[in-house]
Amino acid sequence: MRSGTAEFVESAEKVVGPNHVLTATEQTEPYAVDWTRRWEGHTPAVVRPGDVAEVAELVRLARRHQVALVPQGGKTGLVGGSVPLAGEVVLSLTRLTGIEPVDRLAGQVTVGAGVTLGALQAAAAEAGWAFGVDLAARDSATVGGMIATNAGGLHVVRHGAMRAQVVGVEAVLGTGAVVRRLRGLVKDNTGYDLAQLLCGSEGTLGIVTRARLRLVAPPGPLVVALLGLPSMTAAVAFAATLRTTLPGVRALEAMTGDSMRRTAAHLGVALPTTPTASAYLLVEADPASDDPTLTVADSLTRAAGEGALGDAVENAAVATAAGERAKLWRFREAQPEAAAALGVVHKMDVTLPTSELAGFCDDVAVAIADRWPEAATFLYGHVGDGNVHVNVVGGPEGEDVDDLVLEQVVDRGGSISAEHGIGTAKKRWLPRDRSPAEIESMRAVKQALDPDGILNPNVLFPPFCL
Ligand SMILES: Cc1cc2nc3c(=O)[nH]c(=O)nc-3n(C[C@H](O)[C@H](O)[C@H](O)COP(=O)(O)OP(=O)(O)OC[C@H]3O[C@@H](n4cnc5c(N)ncnc54)[C@H](O)[C@@H]3O)c2cc1C
Repeated sequence: MRSGTAEFVESAEKVVGPNHVLTATEQTEPYAVDWTRRWEGHTPAVVRPGDVAEVAELVRLARRHQVALVPQGGKTGLVGGSVPLAGEVVLSLTRLTGIEPVDRLAGQVTVGAGVTLGALQAAAAEAGWAFGVDLAARDSATVGGMIATNAGGLHVVRHGAMRAQVVGVEAVLGTGAVVRRLRGLVKDNTGYDLAQLLCGSEGTLGIVTRARLRLVAPPGPLVVALLGLPSMTAAVAFAATLRTTLPGVRALEAMTGDSMRRTAAHLGVALPTTPTASAYLLVEADPASDDPTLTVADSLTRAAGEGALGDAVENAAVATAAGERAKLWRFREAQPEAAAALGVVHKMDVTLPTSELAGFCDDVAVAIADRWPEAATFLYGHVGDGNVHVNVVGGPEGEDVDDLVLEQVVDRGGSISAEHGIGTAKKRWLPRDRSPAEIESMRAVKQALDPDGILNPNVLFPPFCL
């Protein structure tokens, strides 16, 4: 352990208590690898503060001893942002699990950064409200990590991403200063919005300790439909039409036929609709009608018109009972685990202009298969947001596949990160997506809020850029 680190660790024990500073390898190892298993680092220590005052003191100590910190929540991030790849100290925020009573008048709640999405959803439901963001890692992903990555998920088409739910935050900046704005004022135009600046900052500017979050009305009776379609072009077009014809759309998720069949095989169940489709579309809505199934069936039929999609609509699997809906959702939510079951996955999360989405999916799948015939490619995502996850497993070892995919994204005017962030995985690519002026401005913000560069210094910015 370097001498600055040793002094930091010794002082940190006085701040959080020796039980919350882990240094033995068998204790620290689980904090040095993430859900993907693609990112595995090493750390001299894991420090687990219990409140904001402790976090602030730890940041001041880190500045004094020039120790780099990696803020960490549930380790479900998919771009290596919470892993100590360069031997940084891990600052785990998972003890910050306080949930204050729901403010039923405002429809808001203040929670600790370490609260999991699942616990937040349960607290909101108990008070008659719901939370607007949902994603499959709900049992582990934390509010702090979701703010730091500006997580998106399944209901962005209805409620927006994480930043749309954040009304205010409490955070410790890289300077050690505590900023706190938790009054829950929806309208609050008093200068720069620091809470929004922290959304998507990936732990590089400040450590989120608490957040004031907007809640939404719970959905009405839900209906889920899974349709097999002749092409990804049809899935994109159909999803667009449903946004205007189906009342209460909450989710529009597309998967290629190959991804669906591999996932069905992984789950060991048969597809509930036509098994040979080229693309599948999962639709969730709460159409607020006496007979939601009828409304959805009617909307699907109207959206399909009298053309080539008629069969697909007739064959659609439609469910309203919770258990049956969950079975249909499994085919979408199990896609990441089906890929992970085949090995370590290259995960790329990108957005395309809607007009480019289907062409990208078709071309990228062919390009990968041509170059790495042994690889399995899973393509699935939030088609309502133009967002597709490209998962490649069992083929290339290095970063060639990332280059192939991201090159196509940039060429088509897309974004190299839709909702997972840049992390360490994509920082080499940042200058292809962001202009020099944008990166210079981002660096200026980093310099102002983290002058010693102690917060997640190895994510987001490539070392050679600017
Ligand atoms: C099965 C599965 C499905 C997923 N589905 C989606 C999806 O649909 N949409 C989506 O957007 N993401 C998805 N993800 C990715 C992941 O769940 C999100 O990125 C989530 O926001 C990460 O939260 P976390 O607590 O695990 O953060 P971590 O992985 O621990 O950290 C992520 C980043 O946030 C920083 N960070 C963590 N806590 C703090 C804090 N308190 N203050 C400051 N910085 C912090 C870390 O340094 C790191 O840069 C999925 C992941 C899995 C495994």
